[in-house]
Amino acid sequence: MNSAKFRRLGHLAAGVAMAGLVACGPDIAPYEPPPPESEVYAEAPAPDEAGAELHEDDDHDAHDEHGEGHAGEVHEHGAAEMAVTREEDFLTLTLDAPLANFGLSEDKPPRGTKAEDFAEGIAEPLGPTKCEETERSVTSRSHDGHGNMTISVVWRCKKIERIEGLRLNVFTLFPGFEHVDAIYLGPDGTQAADELTAAHTDLDFD
Ligand SMILES: [Zn+2]
Repeated sequence: MNSAKFRRLGHLAAGVAMAGLVACGPDIAPYEPPPPESEVYAEAPAPDEAGAELHEDDDHDAHDEHGEGHAGEVHEHGAAEMAVTREEDFLTLTLDAPLANFGLSEDKPPRGTKAEDFAEGIAEPLGPTKCEETERSVTSRSHDGHGNMTISVVWRCKKIERIEGLRLNVFTLFPGFEHVDAIYLGPDGTQAADELTAAHTDLDFD
């Protein structure tokens, strides 16, 4: 994994920490014909890097304005990004993926508890201790006929230092997933990165 990608995934984790698991408000785009399989969102600097106003085109493109925090993201069906952070007794997973990966229509993001069901069992901490899920949140957004879902799950673990990794179950739950760029950010600057696939579902923390 290159360092630019690592930085981007790091922003994913940081965004969740700062925004209290609500990185982006929901948004519905008007219907547009199905797009090609893969598309890269426009590269735009994040607001905090580029000053206050990037949005000269507010009047005709208002639904694009939910992009803050997701600047420069890659939208590729089959691909996804995951960040796992450990802080005190808590392990937080953030997974961002195209709605198509979940078998969903990208212009009709799921809502409420229906959306939260997509977080059920997507991952499990690995190691000789007990963890219990304490929080779950799912947000979606659409952009020019494409849509992403961001899932966050928080576990509280008894002896969290015994947690050795995280198993991602999306490949069996949702066959639309092909590969997931994953990073782990632990205490004292501990980091790990890997690409997960159906044949390699575990992110090792060391
Ligand atoms: Zn798409």
